[in-house]
Amino acid sequence: MAFAVKAMGRVPPWNPMTRMLYMDRLEACYDRTFTARVVESFPDAVVLDQTLFYPLGGGQEWDTGTLTTTDGRVVAVREVTKRGPVRHVVGPGHGLAIGDTVTGAIDWGRRYAHMRMHTAQHLVSGLAYEMFGGIRTVGNQIHATRSRIDFNPVEFTNPMLADLASAANDIIRSKQAITAATMTRDQVLAEQPPERTNMDLLPKSVTDLRVIRIGADVDLCPCAGTHVLNTGEIGDVAILGRRAKGQGTQRVEYTLAGLEPNDAPKDSA
Ligand SMILES: [Zn+2]
Repeated sequence: MAFAVKAMGRVPPWNPMTRMLYMDRLEACYDRTFTARVVESFPDAVVLDQTLFYPLGGGQEWDTGTLTTTDGRVVAVREVTKRGPVRHVVGPGHGLAIGDTVTGAIDWGRRYAHMRMHTAQHLVSGLAYEMFGGIRTVGNQIHATRSRIDFNPVEFTNPMLADLASAANDIIRSKQAITAATMTRDQVLAEQPPERTNMDLLPKSVTDLRVIRIGADVDLCPCAGTHVLNTGEIGDVAILGRRAKGQGTQRVEYTLAGLEPNDAPKDSA
């Protein structure tokens, strides 16, 4: 039964690929609903032919939301992963079958918080590299209310972190445009050292990179995450603290104006 439906579909069932709609252009990060077809169905998850849901990756948390069937049944998307195909985890008993058409809706409050937080991370990482002798970003975790960046090698003091937040907020308040483009490795390397963009950690097989640029030359970084279109949307960065993670690494935690850690963002969809 399932195979008959699969055979009629355009997406090969043995290797379902999902078109990531938010990657089409940066403006698409602001889209909240989409229509898709179920191309794989697992006991607790489905794969769609296209999606706006961001899967866990690059330090950024997944989007949550709903899938609504043509007969009006609403299924909650709890988690989205990308180990192989992009799986929308909907839990057991979801009843979604291959070939079904669904309307997806993402939780906009959570998504927009991630867009602001992730763009803030690029800004803070780039500024820290420039201000403190080329320190690298060796890890990051983007969440909706508080996020963190691991730097190495560095021994931050409170005045250094105050300077970092102040420099970030100057750029945020100056409302600089953010753009996405496709560039070759050589084009990226001509603009930024590999330690700043972590280009040296990307597999050599990746030749064309989706890059996110802040302003004309504030920052340039290969990234598949979701981002805002203007630094003014980020809101002021507030650094919450730092702690040593060993071997010269320090973890800096931050939040943004309006995203206080104990105040979960409202779904404004
Ligand atoms: Zn990024």
